[in-house]
Amino acid sequence: MTNREEIAARLREVGEDNNDWSMGANAAFFKIDDIIGAQYKSYGFFFSRLADLIDPTCNPVEADNNIVCSECGADLYDDDLYCPHCGSRVVRGLETLVQAVEPSDDYIDNQTLALAT
Ligand SMILES: [Zn+2]
Repeated sequence: MTNREEIAARLREVGEDNNDWSMGANAAFFKIDDIIGAQYKSYGFFFSRLADLIDPTCNPVEADNNIVCSECGADLYDDDLYCPHCGSRVVRGLETLVQAVEPSDDYIDNQTLALAT
């Protein structure tokens, strides 16, 4: 799961430190882009990343003969609407613009395991 709690904490911190209009819209945009990890790729990526933070989604992916959550690597069943582990909404048959920008350690471990077998 993405570090949504950390992102929320950083956004609140910036909000408290800039509780006036002195920052400027452009600076605010780049600050938000940095905090949410959109990596200055494109506006489309920025907005998709925001949407995914508000409504976390994952894709079922194959790993080691199982279908697993693209966000956290937990096993998914065919009729799961939400990942039982990280709570991401399961999106099937549709590539989301933002694939796990920062995959969790669990996910990376599972990918490494899958490659090793
Ligand atoms: Zn998950």
